[in-house]
Parts: sequence; structure tokens; C-alpha cells
Amino acid sequence: MTIYDTIKAAVSVPQAAAYYGMKIQRNNMTRCCFHDDHHPSMKLNDTYYYCFACLEHGDVIDLVAKLHRESHYAAVQRIARDFGIGPNSPAPAAAKPCLPSRNPDEDLCRSVLTDYEQLLKRWKHDYAPATPDDPVNERYVEACQMLPAITDMIDALFQADAELRARVARQVVQDGTIPRLKERLDRLRKEGSDGSESPCAAA
Ligand SMILES: [Zn+2]
Repeated sequence: MTIYDTIKAAVSVPQAAAYYGMKIQRNNMTRCCFHDDHHPSMKLNDTYYYCFACLEHGDVIDLVAKLHRESHYAAVQRIARDFGIGPNSPAPAAAKPCLPSRNPDEDLCRSVLTDYEQLLKRWKHDYAPATPDDPVNERYVEACQMLPAITDMIDALFQADAELRARVARQVVQDGTIPRLKERLDRLRKEGSDGSESPCAAA
């Protein structure tokens, strides 16, 4: 286990957020520190944070690195120092006995769905027809059709009670929806055809 893994297993996102001064409200929501947030838009999950407004997301190390504008390496050193974690720290399970157990299906769903949501938002913006006479791009159609459902699913995976979250996640992993989507996102990324390049670079 690397020190990165040890830290991610030992320190939850809400623990680090609270320690470094973020005010956590009901349902683990907080005001996002990465955009001008007037009401809490950021959800702090055990292993993951996600801002519904600016889409910032990541794990505990990402959060601390961004909060302090430092490298991941520096953030790891900081967390290790502040939370008393060393190479010989006790097993992480002992360090946070009160936190709910992790669900790998839920982690996978959140990560794949938030990636897909970001992609769709980009497509909806980048492929929108400029005039009513323009042909409609199929990526634009997909974005318009899929975004509301994907956003609802992400909401459910962050907000619903543990039993419902686990059931939803298990269902979409086992029926192949999430693995297929992940494969597609990976393929688009590899081909560089996910629309992430700037329009100039693509031309
Ligand atoms: Zn934000």
C-alpha cells in the first residue's frame, strides 16, 4: 500500500474538509471553494467530493492539494503530518471505525457518471447548432437527451439513503450499463475524440 492509498483509506473527504476549515452543512454539503458559491453546491462524500455547480471533483488528496494550491505530493505530506499518518500507521480500518463501509460499485458509478456528465455538458455547449438551419449534431442530441437522467442518477448516488444508493449502484454495474459506459469513455479519451481538445486544435 502506498502512502497515497494509506491516506485515502485513513482520512475521509469530510474529515479533511473540516480540518482545513470548510464549513460542512446538512447532508455533507458545503460551499464550494473553487467557484463563487453562495449556497452549498459541493457534496462531500466519504471518498469523493463533487460540486454540482462548477463540476470540480476528486478525492481527499485532490481536495487538499487544490485548497492549498500545492502538488499532490505536498498535499500527501501535509495530510500525513496533520493526521499523524506514517508508513507504520495502524491499519486504516482501525483509524475510522465510525464511517460507513465503502461500496466499490458506488465509487465506480460516481466516477463514471460524473465523467460522462462533464462530457455531455461539453458536447451540449460545443456541438449546439449555431443557427436554426444547421444540421443537428448527434453528440448534441445525446447530450440533450441524456443529461437530465444522468444528473438525476448522480444526485441519487450522493443524496439517497445508503440502502437505495447501494441498490442503484449494484443494478447499473451488474446490468452492464456502467462497465459499457466506462469502456466508451476510455475509448473516446484514447482516440482524443471526446471533444476535450480545443476547436482550434481539432481543426
Ligand atoms: Zn464549485
